Amino acid sequence: MTIEKWNLKKSASCFKCGDATIHDVEVDTYTLKITCRDCGFTRYYKFHMVETPPQCD
Ligand SMILES: [Zn+2]
Repeated sequence: MTIEKWNLKKSASCFKCGDATIHDVEVDTYTLKITCRDCGFTRYYKFHMVETPPQCD
């Protein structure tokens, strides 16, 4: 099964250059990458979470 990445855009203040710029948001299966279009500063988030349904007996 091929998983397609999500490529999103978000306007936000950059952590590094401080400008309110467009940030590219790339969402993969377990990662989230946010890149400032102005200075190229990139933040990564990695996640691997599970949720188990409540037990019913
Ligand atoms: Zn920036």
